[in-house]
Amino acid sequence: MIPNVENTSDLRSVIHGNVILPGEGSYDETRKIWNGMFDKKPGVIVQCKGKEDVVHAVKFANKNKLLIAVKGGGHNSAGTASCDNGMMIDLGLMQDVEVEPENNTARVEGGCLLGTVDKATQEHGLAVSSGIISHTGVGGLTLGGGMGWISRKHGFSVDNLLSAEVVTASGEIVYASKDDNPELFWALRGGGGNFGIVTRFEYQCAEIGTEVYSGPVIKRFEDAKEYIRFHREYVKTMPDEMTIWMVIRHAPPFPFLQEEYHGKLVVLIPCVYLGDPEKGKELMQPIRDFGETIGDGTAMHPWVGWQSAFDGLVDHGARNYWKSHHLKNLSDECIDVITDYAAKMPSNECEVFVPHMEGAPSRVGSGDTAFSHRSTPFVMNIHTRWRESSDDEKCMKWARDFFADTKAFSKGVYVNFISDEGENRTKEAYTPEVWDRLGKVKSDWDPLNIFRMNQNIKPNGS
Ligand SMILES: Cc1cc2nc3c(=O)[nH]c(=O)nc-3n(C[C@H](O)[C@H](O)[C@H](O)COP(=O)(O)OP(=O)(O)OC[C@H]3O[C@@H](n4cnc5c(N)ncnc54)[C@H](O)[C@@H]3O)c2cc1C
Repeated sequence: MIPNVENTSDLRSVIHGNVILPGEGSYDETRKIWNGMFDKKPGVIVQCKGKEDVVHAVKFANKNKLLIAVKGGGHNSAGTASCDNGMMIDLGLMQDVEVEPENNTARVEGGCLLGTVDKATQEHGLAVSSGIISHTGVGGLTLGGGMGWISRKHGFSVDNLLSAEVVTASGEIVYASKDDNPELFWALRGGGGNFGIVTRFEYQCAEIGTEVYSGPVIKRFEDAKEYIRFHREYVKTMPDEMTIWMVIRHAPPFPFLQEEYHGKLVVLIPCVYLGDPEKGKELMQPIRDFGETIGDGTAMHPWVGWQSAFDGLVDHGARNYWKSHHLKNLSDECIDVITDYAAKMPSNECEVFVPHMEGAPSRVGSGDTAFSHRSTPFVMNIHTRWRESSDDEKCMKWARDFFADTKAFSKGVYVNFISDEGENRTKEAYTPEVWDRLGKVKSDWDPLNIFRMNQNIKPNGS
C-alpha cells in the first residue's frame, strides 16, 4: 500500500526532518543509493532529524503495513537501503559527532558518513576504527563489522563499539551495551540492520595522531604471480601496527607512477603504519626490493586525506556487482586463478582486492560478537564495476565465474560484502552457533521481521 498525501499529513505534523512523496522536490535525489544497479521507488521517504523522528517513522510504517528500508550512507552493494513502494527511512540528516577526548570516545549519529567522523575525531588526533572510503555510512558498516586500515591494531568497528541507542521494531527507544540489553548488543556487533535502527553509536577511539605513514607501492601485473607468493608470506611477519593490502586494477594516473603504466593493469600494495615513519619505511623496503617497483607513493599523509584517497575510484552512480570470500590461504593454485581472472577484467573499473586481516580481530573469540569468522588471514573482494546496462551480463558472469573458481579456497564471508544472494549465503557469514543465536535475538526484538531489507536473519521458527 502506498500512502497518499492525505494520510501522511499526521506524519508531517510530527517529523522535524522531511516527509517526501514521489514527484516532490528532492524525491529522486534522496532515493538514490551508491549502486547504480538499483532504481527503487519508495512510496514515501522520511528524512529523519533525530531519534524521535525515527520513532514516528517506524510507528507510521507499522500502522500502515509499509515495508521499511533504512538508508545510512546508502553504500550497501546489495541495494538494501531502498525499497519499492514502502518507506525509506533516510538517516542522512543525522550527522552529529560528539568527541570526548578525556576518555577517547566518540558519540556518532546513525546517519554519519565515515568522513564526518574522521574530521571530528582528528581534531583530537583520534580515529574510530572503520572503513577506507570516506563516503561510506557508519550505520551499515558498523552493524556488519567494519574493517579498515587500523583494524589489525585496534580491531573492527564492532570491537570498539561501547553502546548503541536503538529504535526497535515496535518504535521504542532502548540502549544496548555490555550492561544494558547485552544480547541485543551482542547481535548488533555483526548481525547487520536486523534488530533495530541505531540512532547513535558510541565508540572507543584510537590515538593515531593526525598523520600516518601510508601509500601504495606499485608492481607490474606481469610480475603478479611471483609477487603475490612473496606477499602472502611477508605480510604475516608484520607487527599489528603495519597493514599491507593488495589490489589488482587498472592504474589511475598517479603522479608517482611511471607514465607508461597509467591505465594499465598493475598490482597496488597500499600500506598504513601506525608509528615511527622510518620504521614503516624499513618494513616496506623488502616489498620495494622484490622485483621491479614502478611506483612508490608511500610518505606521511594526513589521516583525513588518506581516508579519502580512493573515494574517486568508487564514487556514486556506477553499476556494481560484488562477490567476496574470506580466504583460508593464498595457495599457489589460488594465486593462479586470481591472476587468470584479473587478466580478463571486463571493464577498467574492476578490482580484485585482497586485505590481510590477522591481528587484533583474530584474537577476539568467534562467539564474542556476532562477527564470527575471524580466523582466516585474507579477504578477497571481486569488485565489478561498469557504466552501461548492456554490459551487465558480461560483467556479472565474470564475477560469478571468478567467485565459483575460488570457492574451494574460502571459508565464510563478511556480511557487508555480500550481494543479493539469498539466505543460504547470508548464513555463510556466521558460524552455525552464531546464526542460531542471532535468530533467537531476532525473535525477541523483531518477531514480525519488520527490518528485513538487509542480509536477513529470520526470527527462529519462522
Ligand atoms: C565503495 C565501498 C567501500 C567500502 N569499504 C568498506 C571498508 O573499507 N570496510 C568495510 O568494513 N566495509 C566497506 N564497505 C562495505 C560497507 O560496510 C557496507 O556496504 C555497508 O552496508 C555500508 O553502510 P551504509 O550505511 O553506507 O549502507 P546502507 O546501504 O545505507 O545500509 C546498509 C544496510 O545497513 C542497515 N543500516 C544502515 N544504517 C543503519 C542504522 N543506523 N541502523 C540500523 N540499520 C542500518 C540497513 O539494513 C541497510 O539496509 C564498502 C562499501 C562500498 C560500496
